Amino acid sequence: MTTNAVVPEAIPLWAEIDLAALEHNVRVLRGRAPRSELMAVVKADAYGHGLVPCAQAAVRAGASWLGVAQLTEACTLRDAGVDARLLTWLYPPGADLAGALRRDIDVSASAPWALDELAAAARRIGRTARVHLKVDTGLGRGGAFGADWDKLVRHARCLEGEEAIRVVGVWTHFAHADAPEHPTVLAQQERFFEAVARAERAGLRPEVRHLANSAATLLHPGAHADLVRPGIALYGLSPVPQVADDFGLRPVMTLKARLVLVKRLPAGQGVSYGHAYAPAADTVVGLVPAGYADGIPRHASNAGPVLVGSTRTRVAGRVCMDQIVVDLGAGSTAGAGDEVVLFGGGPGQPTAQDWADAAGTISYEIVTRVGARVPRFHVGAQEPAR
Ligand SMILES: *Cc1c(COP(=O)(O)O)cnc(C)c1O
Repeated sequence: MTTNAVVPEAIPLWAEIDLAALEHNVRVLRGRAPRSELMAVVKADAYGHGLVPCAQAAVRAGASWLGVAQLTEACTLRDAGVDARLLTWLYPPGADLAGALRRDIDVSASAPWALDELAAAARRIGRTARVHLKVDTGLGRGGAFGADWDKLVRHARCLEGEEAIRVVGVWTHFAHADAPEHPTVLAQQERFFEAVARAERAGLRPEVRHLANSAATLLHPGAHADLVRPGIALYGLSPVPQVADDFGLRPVMTLKARLVLVKRLPAGQGVSYGHAYAPAADTVVGLVPAGYADGIPRHASNAGPVLVGSTRTRVAGRVCMDQIVVDLGAGSTAGAGDEVVLFGGGPGQPTAQDWADAAGTISYEIVTRVGARVPRFHVGAQEPAR
C-alpha cells in the first residue's frame, strides 16, 4: 500500500508519487516482455511525476534505457547522473546536438537534414553520433515514410562511411496499439520488419529494433523486438481502459488537497461562476484549492470525482483557475484542513481514468497536465529522492 508522504500542513495541493509502485510496474512490464530490454519513457517530466526521481526508480527496477521527447530532458537526466542509455527524438533544426552527443545521448533521425546536423555536430566535437533511424510504418507522424525510408538509409550509410554517425537503432511507433484487434497493428509490424531488412541489406547494423509502447508491450508480444518503450503503464495507468484487466499495475500518482473552507448553503443557491450547479436541498460545501491552473480539466465541471474522508462526491459547478467547490451533503462533519483525494489508486479513491472519463480525455492528459505549482512528494524510494 502507498506510504503517505509527510506533507507540511500549510501546503494546499500536492501530488504523492509512489516510487515503489513505479518500480513494481517496471517489473510487471519486464515480465511481459522477458526477452526484450526496457526503455522507460520519462518525457514530459515523467508524465507529470517528476523526471529525475522517476528515471532513477525505473533504472533501479531494471530499465536499461530511458526515452524522452526533448533534448533538454535528456540533458537534465545525464547532468543528474542518471546512468542508462538515453534516447531523444524531437528537435528542430539548430538544436544543440553537440550538447547531446557530449553527454552520450542517442538521437533519433527521421530526415536527411537531421543526419547532416548530427554528423556536423559529431565532427565538431570529434565523436561518432549514435543514431536511431525512425520509419513511419503508418502512424503518419514522425519517421520517414514510403520511398523516403530508402533515401534516409542510404544517407545514413554514407555518413557511417566517414564515421560521423553510427546507426544503432531502427524504430517506429503504432497508430492503434490501444485497439487490440485493429488490423493496422500487424500491418505496421510487418512494414517495420521489412524496413529493418532493407536497412540491413543496405549495410546498416542496428543493435536494437523497437516499436512497442505500453499497449503493445502488454498486448502484442510480436512487437516486443529488442526493446519495449512503455510510458503510461510505468505510472500504473492502463493504456487500454476498455480492457477489464489492470495487468497488475499500481497507480503511482495520488493528487491530494486540503479543504480551505467549509460552509452551509441553502437549497437553490447557485455555486461558483455561472451558477452551473445549485443544490436541491440545504447542504454543506467544501472549497478545494485545485483548479485548471493545476491541471484540473475545466471539461470536468459538474463531473470530476473527489473523495473527502469517506465521502465520494463530485465537482459542484465550474472548475475555476485555482479552485473547485464540492457538495459534501447536509450531514457533513468535514472541516477546513481535511484531506481531499482528487485521484489515486487506493480503496475508494477516484482514479486518473475516472477524471479522464469525466472530462472526455485520456488518463495521460490528467497526470501530465498537473501544474508546475503543485509540489511532488516522492515516497517509497529505496534511496532518498531528490
Ligand atoms: C510517448 C511515447 C511512448 C510511450 O507511449 P505510452 O503509450 O505512454 O506507453 C513510446 N514511444 C514514443 C515514440 C512515444 O512518443
